[in-house]
Amino acid sequence: MPSSPPPSRGHAQRGAREVDVVVIGGGVNGAGVARDASMRGLKVALFERNDIAFGASGNSSGMIHGGPRYLTYDPGVTETSCRDSGHIQHIAPHLLFRIPFLYPVARSVKSKVMLTLIDGFFQAYDEYQPLKHGKPHARLTADELRKLEPGLHGDLEGGVSFDEWGIDGARLSLENVVDAAERGTKVWTGTTVETIERHDETGEVMAVRYRDLRSGRTGRLTTSAIVNATGAWAPITASLSGLPAQKARVRGGKGIHVGYDRRLTNYAIAGRTIDGREIFLEPWQNLSVLGTTDDDYYGDLDNVFATSEEVRYLVEGIARIFPQIHEARPIYTYAGVRPTLYAYGPLEDALSRNHEVVDHTAH
Ligand SMILES: Cc1cc2nc3c(=O)[nH]c(=O)nc-3n(C[C@H](O)[C@H](O)[C@H](O)COP(=O)(O)OP(=O)(O)OC[C@H]3O[C@@H](n4cnc5c(N)ncnc54)[C@H](O)[C@@H]3O)c2cc1C
Repeated sequence: MPSSPPPSRGHAQRGAREVDVVVIGGGVNGAGVARDASMRGLKVALFERNDIAFGASGNSSGMIHGGPRYLTYDPGVTETSCRDSGHIQHIAPHLLFRIPFLYPVARSVKSKVMLTLIDGFFQAYDEYQPLKHGKPHARLTADELRKLEPGLHGDLEGGVSFDEWGIDGARLSLENVVDAAERGTKVWTGTTVETIERHDETGEVMAVRYRDLRSGRTGRLTTSAIVNATGAWAPITASLSGLPAQKARVRGGKGIHVGYDRRLTNYAIAGRTIDGREIFLEPWQNLSVLGTTDDDYYGDLDNVFATSEEVRYLVEGIARIFPQIHEARPIYTYAGVRPTLYAYGPLEDALSRNHEVVDHTAH
C-alpha cells in the first residue's frame, strides 16, 4: 500500500469501502473472527503488529480449558469452556492431544474429608465432560497414584484423576489465519494499526491507518466495521479511535511457564505454591511444561518475559510433590498476559475467565 499523509480524524468520506471488516490482532480470537467472517463471504483484512500468536495465544498453558476451577463460583464458564472445547475438537482434531491430570492430596488431619470433597467436586465436573469428549474422573489410593506416577513424593492420602485436552495455541491461531487467507482475507503481520478513523457526526468507523514496523511504510484502508481482538492491548486499541480506554477495560494478568526438554511425568500433576496457589507440571507433546503464575501486569505488553524469581517460585512449588524437577533440564521460559475482564478487588486467580463482547457503537 502507498504511503499516506498523516491521519485527519473525522474527515474520512463515506462511500464504498475497501473491506467489510478490519480485524485488529492476530491471536486466537482475531484469527478465528477473520476466518469466520471470510467463510461468511465478507471481505476481511487482518492486522497483527508482531507475529501471529505473539500475545497470550502463543504463550498459554497449552490446554483447551475445561474450566474445573470455575465450577464452584462460575459454572457457566465451565460449561462454555467445555462446549468450546467440543467445537475446537470438531474444527481442528489434528491439533489435539489428551492431558490426563492427577490431583494428589497430602495426608493431614483433614485430608480424608478433603479427598471426599474433591471426589464430589470432580463428580460434578464429570457432568460437563461429555461436552468435550472427556473421561470421567477416578478416585485413587496413594498406592494407585504412585503406580501411575512413581515420582510423586510425600505422605499421600490419595487423589483423583481428571481429563483435559492439550493444544498448540500458536498453531491453532496460524491455521485459522492460513484458512482465512485462502478464503480471501488480506493479512498484514508486523503491521500495527495506529489510528481508527470515525465519522465526525455519526461516530461510525471509516478506516484504519497502519504502519509496517519493519519498512516504516504507512497506509490507510477503508472499512465498514472493525473488530478489536487485541486481548490485553484492547484498551489501548480502543483509544486509537478516540474512545476512552475504559470502554474496553481488561485487568491484564501475567503468567509464565518453564519448558523442560522431555516428558518428565506420565500424567500432568497438580501441586501448590508456597502461597497456596494451584500449579501444574504437564507432559506437553514431547516436552514438559511447568506453570503458571498470575500477577497483575502494568508493564510493556510487547516485551513480557519470565523473571528468575517467578521461575524459582514455580520450581519450589512443584518440587514439594515432584522433587526430581531439580534434576530436570529447563530449556526455555515463556510469558504472556491474560486479557482478564476488569474487576477491582479480587485476587488475580479469582478473576472471572468469562468472555465479553463490547459494542463500541453503543458508547
Ligand atoms: C499464562 C497464560 C496461560 C493461559 N492458559 C490457557 C489455557 O491453558 N487454556 C486456555 O484456553 N486459555 C489460556 N489462557 C488464555 C488465552 O491464552 C487467552 O484468552 C487468549 O489467547 C486470548 O487471545 P486473544 O486473541 O484475545 O489475544 P492475544 O493472543 O493476546 O492477541 C492479541 C494480539 O493483538 C496484537 N495487537 C495489539 N495491538 C495491536 C495493534 N494496534 N495493531 C495490530 N495488532 C495488535 C498483539 O500483537 C497480539 O498478537 C492463558 C493465558 C496466559 C497468559
